[in-house]
Amino acid sequence: MISFLDLKKINEPYESAFQEKLKKVLENGWYILGTELQTFEESFALFCNKKHCIGTGNGFDALVLIFKSYIELGKLKKGDEVIVPANTFIASILAVMQAGLIPVLVEPKIETYNINPDLIQEKITPKTRAILLVHLYGQLAEMNSIHEIALKNNLLVIEDAAQSHGAHESYKNSFNSAVAYSFYPGKNLGCLGDGGAVVTDDEELAKVLLLLRNYGSEKKYHNDFIGVNSRLDELQASFLNLKLPNLNRDNDKRRAVAKRYLEEIKNDKIILPFWDFSNNHVFHLFVIRTEKRDDLQQYLAENNIQTVIHYPIPPHRQKAFSDWNALSFPITEKIHNEVLSLPMSPVLTEKEVTFIIEILNRY
Ligand SMILES: *Cc1c(COP(=O)(O)O)cnc(C)c1O
Repeated sequence: MISFLDLKKINEPYESAFQEKLKKVLENGWYILGTELQTFEESFALFCNKKHCIGTGNGFDALVLIFKSYIELGKLKKGDEVIVPANTFIASILAVMQAGLIPVLVEPKIETYNINPDLIQEKITPKTRAILLVHLYGQLAEMNSIHEIALKNNLLVIEDAAQSHGAHESYKNSFNSAVAYSFYPGKNLGCLGDGGAVVTDDEELAKVLLLLRNYGSEKKYHNDFIGVNSRLDELQASFLNLKLPNLNRDNDKRRAVAKRYLEEIKNDKIILPFWDFSNNHVFHLFVIRTEKRDDLQQYLAENNIQTVIHYPIPPHRQKAFSDWNALSFPITEKIHNEVLSLPMSPVLTEKEVTFIIEILNRY
């Protein structure tokens, strides 16, 4: 059986180093907000080319805390509208709502699965204050066009980079954004539990966020803001310190798998994803489309290839969002009906990739 994502194999090489780190944390007897976190925050900020990194309990909180910080700073207020892609993992939309803001859905481009910049302007109202980008499946959204729209309409840009660690590597610009990451085990950089972080060049934002994640408190028992408890603990930070140095190498391996899929899968029934072959894609997922998706998934399962659907139900059709159920987003719906994620990870072997391609070409 070729598994969709073999997490055990991904973490195996670190086993003895993890044991060492665990021993060190136990010896130090310090578990929260310590030196491992500080080291990680410095290294990850450097990796992301940003001035500040603030660890959080998970990726969802990273997003919520960005919005809450902007509210504290008076740059957003409850009831403001935030543009979001209509096809995303539910966490992006829930984070907007959790902060008391109103998500406004915009259709993606079917080729890239990312938000269509041409459709943003028509959704902007006097209440629109921000755009939440999601770099879905690991591919950067169209940053230049979106920054232009943001500048023209005086909007904040917040990025959900939970699937795109390392995709900004070659992207440099001066736009002042706040970027949320998740270190959930299955992400391109994953810890052994929950973890997240915010990176930004915005010093004001970083200062508020640093307090908000820790009960709104800088000095113990003195609370400046109505904060929450969302911290990246020492043990998880220590594991991330071990894995971060290999992130670019792992992303290269993912891109090598993607390149083979794109060049060697030849089947009229399968639509391959768009990629400009730049490093702006880190292939968190390799997502194909096909009309009879469930049929293809079953065929692959019969051939011992495990696949996953990201995601089977669009947000506006979820029971939780009953107000949206009658809305129509045809491209989003088509994507959710047709997508299938092939096995993708830095530990897939050449032999496994060859087998997957052969089976797909025979379908
Ligand atoms: C994983 C993910 C999140 C949430 O991260 P958690 O650490 O699980 O809270 C948010 N947005 C996207 C697009 C994700 O894939």
